[in-house]
Amino acid sequence: MSLEPIGLPSSVLAVCAHPDDESFGLGGVLHYLSDAGSRTSVLCFTRGEASTLGASPELHDVRAAELTAAAGVLGIERVILLDLPDGSLSAVALDELATAVGAAAETVGASMLLVFDEDGVTGHPDHRRATEAALTGTAGVPVLAWNVPRPVGEALNAEFGTTFAGLDEDRVDLRLKVDRAAQHVAIACHTSQSTDNPVLRRRLELLGDTESLRWLRVPENPAGSMRHEVQAAARH
Ligand SMILES: [Zn+2]
Repeated sequence: MSLEPIGLPSSVLAVCAHPDDESFGLGGVLHYLSDAGSRTSVLCFTRGEASTLGASPELHDVRAAELTAAAGVLGIERVILLDLPDGSLSAVALDELATAVGAAAETVGASMLLVFDEDGVTGHPDHRRATEAALTGTAGVPVLAWNVPRPVGEALNAEFGTTFAGLDEDRVDLRLKVDRAAQHVAIACHTSQSTDNPVLRRRLELLGDTESLRWLRVPENPAGSMRHEVQAAARH
């Protein structure tokens, strides 16, 4: 199994804004990578204390514990959890965020970063900021972005009034066939957030077993072979 043109990355660092992004969003891809033999790690900027779901004075700690449990399910070896303000990452100096990404990438020897797409996928400003920091804090490391295909985003917006932008077909660089079973278990670890999440449930139903990704920073030798190989696999 390989992610041409870089092959299977030896060490992947996912850069996220909130505990649950690694599972609700990136869980299928992270499990795919760890299952294939990549070492995977997560840098999460906030403890998700501003969530309206499960609001309590302890949410700050509850969500940290949920992240640790979910990481175990997804085969994530290392979680680097910061305590920056949930909902206000845009107010944190980009330099500070970028420095944290650079340090985490060095600590885990990252050969690839995995992020939410630049539009934040759901449009959340914290998601956009996390990706901006990932791109700013590293140089020369390929950056792969997860998104939902535009038809999936449009269907969700129509059904739930959400704000998914969606990724156009011709901008998809890579499609992966993922096993959702581990992702569902990881999602369930986020008890404070996932007890009733119809948007998430519907999104996973619409996505089926396929995730769509694009390079924000392309590897040294971008090759069409990867695109064809993976698309062929996805049709099976
Ligand atoms: Zn989030």
